[in-house]
Amino acid sequence: LFNEIQELKGNIRVYCRIRPFRPWEDEKSTSVEYIGENGELVLSNPTKKGKEAGKNFTFNKVFGPTATQDMVFNDIRPLIRSVLDGYNVCIFAYGQTGSGKTHTMMGPENATEKEWGVNYRALNDLFNISHDRRDTIKYELGVQMVEIYNEQIRDLLGTGGSQKKLGIQNTTQPNGLAVPDATMCPVDSTSHVIELMQTGHNNRSMSATALNERSSRSHSVVTIHVQGQDLKTGNTLRGALHLVDLAGSERVDRSAVTGDRLKEAQHINKSLAALGDVIFSLSQKNAHVPYRNSKLTQVLQTSLGGHAKTLMFVQVNPDVSSYTETLSTLKFAERVSGV
Ligand code: ADP
Ligand code: MG
Repeated sequence: LFNEIQELKGNIRVYCRIRPFRPWEDEKSTSVEYIGENGELVLSNPTKKGKEAGKNFTFNKVFGPTATQDMVFNDIRPLIRSVLDGYNVCIFAYGQTGSGKTHTMMGPENATEKEWGVNYRALNDLFNISHDRRDTIKYELGVQMVEIYNEQIRDLLGTGGSQKKLGIQNTTQPNGLAVPDATMCPVDSTSHVIELMQTGHNNRSMSATALNERSSRSHSVVTIHVQGQDLKTGNTLRGALHLVDLAGSERVDRSAVTGDRLKEAQHINKSLAALGDVIFSLSQKNAHVPYRNSKLTQVLQTSLGGHAKTLMFVQVNPDVSSYTETLSTLKFAERVSGV
């Protein structure tokens, strides 16, 4: 286990997850094929010929359409647990609207325990393990939840639906808070967390899009702060887990939208590109990492690079009509995976 964690340090792992077809979609229109145990997949487009008809990609892992929430979580468990040992971990979901980002991170609305996404399962594990260790370490957990919309940070857990815009602190201190003014809720049970996250989720900015009526045009960042005190030595440790449901990565046709939608699209493109650039330069071991190019990368700075561990879920649709978006999603992932 220790080696597994060491291996993850400072690297990004990329897991691809292919959404299953929905009942009204034509399964024959499949475009993404999961071809093996080794993280390989083929993206094909039957309407094209030659080089453009198919492209292979390799990631650390590929979850096909039948993978359950449980299977996905089991694979990232060691990463989550390492937060209790004082690591900073960032897990985010990238992909076009409707590709299953929220499904992976949170699960469907009013999810049963079986349908829970990474968020609830992670908290559940953290509570259980801290309970198991209670005779040696006293843990305290707190949750912050913010949304980044049009390069502005909003508190999702503030009382009275706080629309307060929040500032960022330059986190040169290890484990300093990136958004110190976002409401921090102490948590001690999974049911409490579920309640909190529902509140936060309902406070997100929504605007209708053709793809998914309630799709979000903002990034949501849940941060779980962990503080542990060794009961014998009195030493303390801190860790943080960032769980990020990114805004949809789809290219918006700039000639077709104006006003607010155009502005949203520009902000989303810019921040996703900034995220890609940060992870890419970390993978290249560049001396300069351009964290300051977006609010998103500034908020996540302490959990990207250095001793932090990062995992990206690349979410894709299975159907051929999503081919162009899927290709650009997989290319983004391929670039940041540093291979
Ligand atoms: P996104 O957040 O990327 O816009 P969603 O998570 O909302 O996408 O997923 C779109 C739809 O597909 C939702 O109805 C969701 O429940 C469903 N869905 C996504 N992934 C899966 C999956 N792995 N299994 C079952 N349903 C899924
Ligand atoms: Mg979503």
